[in-house]
Parts: sequence; C-alpha cells; structure tokens
Amino acid sequence: MLLKDKVAVITGGAGLNGLGFATARLMAAQGARVVVLDLAGAEPAAAAAQLGAGHLGWVADVTDKASCDAAAAAVLQAYGRIDVLVNNAGITQPAKTLDITGADYDRILDVSLRGTLYMSQAVLPAMQQQKSGSIVCISSVSAQRGGGILGGPHYSAAKAGVLGLARAMAREFGPDGIRINCITPGLIGTDIIKGKLTEEKKAEIAETIPLARLGRADDIGGACVFLASDLSLYCTGITLDVNGGMLIH
Ligand code: NAD
Repeated sequence: MLLKDKVAVITGGAGLNGLGFATARLMAAQGARVVVLDLAGAEPAAAAAQLGAGHLGWVADVTDKASCDAAAAAVLQAYGRIDVLVNNAGITQPAKTLDITGADYDRILDVSLRGTLYMSQAVLPAMQQQKSGSIVCISSVSAQRGGGILGGPHYSAAKAGVLGLARAMAREFGPDGIRINCITPGLIGTDIIKGKLTEEKKAEIAETIPLARLGRADDIGGACVFLASDLSLYCTGITLDVNGGMLIH
C-alpha cells in the first residue's frame, strides 16, 4: 500500500467520470483516507460513499477562502492531519482572445488559480507542523502548448499560472518537508470535454498522439498516487507530463 493511513484531500473530486474521482479511487485503493471536496451540485458526499467506508465528502468552493479554510479545519478535526492535497478543481471555456470578457476571465482563473492558492494556504500550516506533506496541482498541456484543443487563452493562462504558483510554493516550503508538484494532462476523456468534441474530432486528435489514444482518468490518477507517495520523495517543483506524447519537449 503506497498511501497507507495517509489523509488525502481532493478538490473537484466528485464527478464520477473525472480525474479527481479516479484519483480518489486509486488513492483509497492504496490505503489513503480520502476527503472529496466539491460544489454542492456535484454531491461530494455521494461520491465519497462510492469509495467505501472511511472516506468523507464535503461541500467546498475553492474560489472562497473561508470555504477552503473551513474544509481544512474539518479534515483536521476528523483525522488530525493532512498528508496530501490534490488541487484538481477546474473549469474551461472554449473562447477566442477577443471574445473573453472580464467575467469569463475571473470565472476561469478563479477556480484553477485562485482555488489552488486558497486551498494550498488552507492545508500548508498543518503540513508545516507535521514537517511533511505533498501537494499535487493539476495544470494542463494547454499551459505548455498554448491551448489549441478546448480551452481558450484564459484557460491556458490559468493553468500556466498554476505551474508558476506551484514552483514558487515548492521552493518556499521545501525546507518544511512539503513537496509541491504539477501534472500537465493531455486530452483526457472526462465530462469537461463532453459535448465539446465529436467522435470524429477525437479520432483525428488520437491520430496525432504517439500513444494513439486520448487519456483516461486513471492515467492521471496513477500519476497523482506517484506524486503523493514516498516513491517521489525527492521530487518537488516538477511538472509531470501525462499526455500520451502529445507534447514532447
Ligand atoms: P470535471 O469537470 O469532471 O471535473 C472538475 C470538477 O471541479 C467538477 O467536479 C466540478 O464540480 C469541480 N469544480 C468546479 N468549480 C469548483 C469550485 N469552485 N470549487 C470546487 N470544485 C469545483 O473535469 P476533469 O476533466 O476531471 O478536470 C479535472 C481537472 O483537470 C481540471 O482542473 C481540468 O482543468 C484539468 N484538466 C483536464 C483535462 C481533460 O482533458 N479532461 C486536461 C488537462 C487538465
């Protein structure tokens, strides 16, 4: 068991087809006690129930600092420690530069970037006290290749911001024994792409990927388990590309 008795918090983890829930499932299978956080409409308690006994699901909005702080306090109350945080919550919008409104910009950046900051701020003091912790931030290949698949430039900017934020936090909190790393998924078949790409378009994209398929949620979940576990003890500030070879650089 790679995560025996570790307490893992996953934001945006309630969508049963999503990267967050796949990560929750794989972490639970490796012995972690998982706390799924998500918006009320996504029903995090129901998602956690699917993981079996000993896991929790609570409502938390990562764009709201008080909500993040309350969630972290509740995890500490329930389990007494926080070993792993996966900053997974994110939304996208296919939009061209000239069409992006201020409200679009705020909405997209708030969930991925502000949410990563607020939720990290909420768990870092406990990790500092423990002198250990692993934070995994879900960025995107869109940050590295300049979008071009689904999200608009504001999504690429949000995800590039996540890379910078995570690297700077990794430098700051390394001396406390806290590791902070990013994953840049390629195109993964989850609800985020639902209805946005035809089967024909997906097949066309798959042809351009060296591993000749779109990613699966478990492909990212496995990478999260690696970065959360002691297998990656000497990794901090890294960006782990999980994209089937879509971007090799
Ligand atoms: P998804 O839509 O299934 O999951 C996103 C989750 O975030 C949902 O459960 C949603 O309810 C939750 N969420 C949205 N706003 C929130 C908020 N304010 N507070 C808390 N939770 C909130 O999509 P997914 O594909 O599983 O995406 C997970 C992450 O992976 C996102 O950050 C996304 O940008 C990133 N990503 C996805 C892909 C892909 O191809 N699927 C590629 C690269 C990066």
